Formats: sequence, structure tokens, C-alpha cells
Amino acid sequence: MALVSSTSLLQAARAGGYCIGAFNVHTLEMLQAVVEAAEEVQSPLILQSTVGTVKHLGPDYIAAAATVASNRSGVPIALHLDHCSDFQVIMQCIRAGYTSVMIDASHEPYDHNVAATRKVVEAANAVGINVEAELGRVGGVEDDLVVDDRDALLADPDECARFVADTGVHTLAPAIGTAHGIYKGDPDIDFERIARIASKVSVPLVLHGGSGIPDAQVRRCVELGMSKMNVATELRIVFSDAIKAVFAANPDENDPRKYMIPAKQALKAAAIEKMRLCGSVGKAKDFRP
Ligand SMILES: [Zn+2]
Repeated sequence: MALVSSTSLLQAARAGGYCIGAFNVHTLEMLQAVVEAAEEVQSPLILQSTVGTVKHLGPDYIAAAATVASNRSGVPIALHLDHCSDFQVIMQCIRAGYTSVMIDASHEPYDHNVAATRKVVEAANAVGINVEAELGRVGGVEDDLVVDDRDALLADPDECARFVADTGVHTLAPAIGTAHGIYKGDPDIDFERIARIASKVSVPLVLHGGSGIPDAQVRRCVELGMSKMNVATELRIVFSDAIKAVFAANPDENDPRKYMIPAKQALKAAAIEKMRLCGSVGKAKDFRP
């Protein structure tokens, strides 16, 4: 089927009390691995690329590969642009065929964040695709985005409600204590805050920094109303480790298939685990036309 907007996927997840994994991919093999994972367990899927990957590969290449994967697949797939503060890049991705975009103006004052988000929502509504925005600051590093942990401010539940009303945004990523990258200790998640935000906001909520959150804590976040979980670093490590293992065993290997195929298999297995954790296994059938 054709790529779908992530809005319908995430609204169903929120209503059904489960979560959909959004997996950052950087190569064709990574994209294929997570699509194969979704097909194997019949899960809806959100493919994600960072601005860095968009600049590296080109939004048209990424959208073309995602479109081919989706057309060949029986599971619903959305293509999402992760953290972007540049309106031009967002428009390039929409034009290339992305079905979901994140405008991240969370580092700006509230009114600027509202204005920037509204502008993207208007453009996205014209073509029927999803917009995600962020309130508060998620800690850690993503591409060249660096947030000092001490300055990572958590989202205020009342402001979340006001923000959704002010912008018409389709999905919201409130900062609730998670961070990008791999955690040094356990993440310090404010579960009570998630519950309060979910009680005030009806749009699907997005959990950033999904790499390395203990499974029980992910399940609790999902129960409390998180409908999308972003996973990037953890999958990159799995993929890279499989390649390193091939070269450790055979330093002279020079056939990309010999290291890409095991890397794909390792990534696929890791993605399936995340889909099980999210509770999205078997949910693809809810979206058959
Ligand atoms: Zn993020």
C-alpha cells in the first residue's frame, strides 16, 4: 500500500493503548530491515530520518526507497522527518513524499514555537500529512542538536494543552525526562507528568530517546499514553556491531553483501523486539483498506 500519514496510525495506537516504534534509518539496508521486521510481525511502522541523513542521502532518495518498500508491503508505513528546525528542509521532505514531519522549535520561546509549528501545520494540512512538535527539551545529543542536561526542561501539562490548541499540531513530544543517545544510568522519567499531560491532551504523545529505556519503564510510558517511541542509537549500535563482527573474523572482507546481510538480520531482530515491547504486533490488520 502507499505510504500513509502517521496521524491515523498514531490515533489508533492512542485509542488502542499501544505504541508504534519509529525507527531511524540511515541506509537502504537499515530501511529494508525494519520494513521486513514490521511485515514479519504485522506491525504498523514509522520510518524516520534525521535532518543529517536527509542531507547525506537526499530526501528524494529516502522517500523513493520508502515508497517502494511501502508499495511492496501489506503493512501500513509512514515516513517521518525527525527533529527539524528548518522550514525549507521540511518543505523539501514534504515535496519528496514524506508523510510526517517534526518541527522542533522547542528551543525557542513559547510564542515562537507556536508560530513556527502553526506554519508547518498549515502546509501539512494542505497535503494531509502529520506534524509533530516538541515542548520542553529532551536531553542528550541527536545529530548536531545538543542539549545541556541541566537545561533540559520538562514540559508543563497545562502548556501542552494550550500548545495543541494554539497550533493544531497532530502529535506532541513533551519532554518528560528521557534523553537522546544511550543512558549512563537509568533514565529519570517523570511518569506522573506523562499521566497529567495525557489527561489534558487528546493527540498522540511521542516518547523521544527510546534507546536503552528499561522495558518495564517503556511499558509504563505506553500505558500512560505514549503512542510513538523513537528509537535511533540502539539500532545503530546493533547494526554496526554486526558489521564489526564480520571484520573482526575476516579483516579482508570486501564484499558489502557479506557484512550488510548479517547487519540487516541483526537490526531486523532488534526491531521486532521493540515492536513487541510497544505492543504493536498484529495491529497492521486494523489498517487494511
Ligand atoms: Zn528526539
